[in-house]
Amino acid sequence: MRYVSTRGRAPALGFDDVLLAGLAADGGLYVPETWPQFSADDLKSFAGLDYPRLAARVMAPFVKGSVIEHKLEDLTRRAYSAFAHTAVAPMIQTAANEWLLELFHGPTLAFKDFALQCVGLMFDEVLKARGARITIVGATSGDTGSAAIEATKNRDAINTFILHPAGRTSEVQRRQMTTVDAKNVHNIAVEGTFDDCQNMVKALFADTKFRDDVHLSAVNSINWARIMAQVVYYVWAAVHVGSPHRKVTFAVPTGNFGNVFAGFVASKMGLPVERFVVGSNANDILTRYFETGSMTAAGVVPTLSPSMDIQISSNFERLLFEAVGRDGAAVSRHMDQFKQSGSYTVDAKAHALLLSQFAGQRLDDAGTLKFIGEVYKASGYVLDPHSAVGLYAARNAGLESAVPRIALATAHPAKFPDAVEKATGTRPSMPPALADLFHRREHFTTLPNDLDQLRRLIRERISH
Ligand SMILES: *Cc1c(COP(=O)(O)O)cnc(C)c1O
Repeated sequence: MRYVSTRGRAPALGFDDVLLAGLAADGGLYVPETWPQFSADDLKSFAGLDYPRLAARVMAPFVKGSVIEHKLEDLTRRAYSAFAHTAVAPMIQTAANEWLLELFHGPTLAFKDFALQCVGLMFDEVLKARGARITIVGATSGDTGSAAIEATKNRDAINTFILHPAGRTSEVQRRQMTTVDAKNVHNIAVEGTFDDCQNMVKALFADTKFRDDVHLSAVNSINWARIMAQVVYYVWAAVHVGSPHRKVTFAVPTGNFGNVFAGFVASKMGLPVERFVVGSNANDILTRYFETGSMTAAGVVPTLSPSMDIQISSNFERLLFEAVGRDGAAVSRHMDQFKQSGSYTVDAKAHALLLSQFAGQRLDDAGTLKFIGEVYKASGYVLDPHSAVGLYAARNAGLESAVPRIALATAHPAKFPDAVEKATGTRPSMPPALADLFHRREHFTTLPNDLDQLRRLIRERISH
């Protein structure tokens, strides 16, 4: 399988190079040259497979020609063995024709483990085959940092540096990163804000000499391999409620658009999907886009669902590429315009095409607390604030009631105990694997907001 850039000016690459590159050289995102197809018979044959086997079947066409091609099921078995639920992604029925797909049984209690547990192993295989090493550097205020650390800890060919703003993350989220004790994991508490952390990471990537010297790499959600691994649970969930005989609708709490784009990929591959409902919190750039046809940035406001507090949904570029008939020059024009003016408008034909498959919903913090409380009272089910946005979107998008609705539950409630306690009156307890989180020793280095000191520390640590 070859991959092309959404901006049309970067060389086509195979899977292994796309994995290591992350972003394309022209600033675009990699997508497969063509969408592999599953027939109705293929989908029927998926019923009854366990999660790791289904994952290998769904991802196989995307890794043709890769060094992992013939190791895929071994890899998915290892990736999902760390999940706390034997079904990996259990489904809970919450109403007639309505299900929650629980994606939070991985080691860090958020759906990002689904992709990163796989991607960590894929990096390992590709680096081993090439005799190469990489340095992963990322900034986090939320779930990505801990998921990346869990996915890359104790790997010989990878050093992972994760920056977080000192004293400005939630205690659960910080401890999930800093209590991991592994030689190749380096937590840096920066005396500054999340933006300071992110600016330092960007500056490192812009420093060509440093980037080449340390073989800098990223595991953010623009990496194609992350999207690919997320396609699996859409197929899994749809097959469970009767695909290919019935269409389904998915509701997805959305930030960077990586998760819901993976669902769109599943539909491109032949999964019958009626509609995708995109749920936003007060940071509603996507919902406004679906309402108006204009993608217009606004400032980020902090909410109870911090992993969806974004200004730009980077992965939307992949959907735009499809909507404009895979015209890389048109995508480039839109992205240039967005960079210059903070806004672009999709032409009416492409917008109508998107509206035929997507809808947007929003829920602010007050609504989120109210909805978590209502669902708890009615059923005893405890939603985290992100999953609440998803289920609310499923219930309020005016959907055809005969079509099964599946809302994605993206985080465990114990990850956001304050909001959940406020909404339900009860503090959610940590799952057993993390029960002693508050008693584990933390490992991190505090640094001032100073690029030179960060560069020095990274060079020093990777030379050992
Ligand atoms: C990252 C995250 C999201 C947003 O996912 P995107 O792929 O960025 O749209 C939603 N919920 C939780 C809990 C997350 O960690």
